[in-house]
Amino acid sequence: MTRPYVIGGNWKLQVTSLSEAKRRLEEIDSHLENFDIETFIAVPSVFLYSVSTQNLKLAAEDIHYEESGAYTGATSVLSLVDAGIGYTLVGHSERRIIFKETDEEINKKVKLALKYDITPVLCIGETAKERETGEYKEVLRRQLVVGLQGVENLEKVIIAYEPVWAINNKALNPDTEIKPATPADAEATHSFVRRVIEELYGQNISQSVRILYGGSMKASNAEELLKQPNIDGGLIGGASLKAETLIPVHRICSSLN
Ligand code: PEP
Repeated sequence: MTRPYVIGGNWKLQVTSLSEAKRRLEEIDSHLENFDIETFIAVPSVFLYSVSTQNLKLAAEDIHYEESGAYTGATSVLSLVDAGIGYTLVGHSERRIIFKETDEEINKKVKLALKYDITPVLCIGETAKERETGEYKEVLRRQLVVGLQGVENLEKVIIAYEPVWAINNKALNPDTEIKPATPADAEATHSFVRRVIEELYGQNISQSVRILYGGSMKASNAEELLKQPNIDGGLIGGASLKAETLIPVHRICSSLN
């Protein structure tokens, strides 16, 4: 089965002015008319009402697991609906580790996004220690089983496998050298993730769900990663901040299509 590539960006808190956000998004957007590749960028929620794009889809970086209420600082799924936003990241490692989010909370977010027809991009991934000790498969299995508990329409979900040790964030990796997964390691883990999804949802659905790789992906390593049969795109942090670093990844996807 051929699964169409998806390229996602994650700006985190790296762009902090609306004028700069608009300038960068417009530039990326203008290139996308040359490609037929589903592309979203997750931006700080404060920008979501104020930017509009043609080909590029916008995403939230997170939502709260309740629709509304006394939750200072959180973003409501209802605001995403109101702003016409179609995607949200859920369970990014920075949310799991820095903000101490649990799999149970992440599961509520996945279900809430789906309730409002917003595509949740469920991020999973093990730490360097969990990889070294070999417990990473159990960690990924738990993140999938609990994160997807009660989710019926997996067709609407995108999975992003992002090994924490590969994410270009020193705070998450104080004691380890940050480096992307090798294509072979990434493929082996993606294939494991797809097998767990098959156990949960059966073969047809597991073959159609897109599993993105995230962790220091950039033009220089994207081709080898994206060539792998179980890697269906990328979730890209640093290299999604500018057209000049993101669009080369689109060229690679096009050449592999
Ligand atoms: C991320 O934060 O999701 C990510 C993959 O970041 P980077 O590409 O910068 O490692």
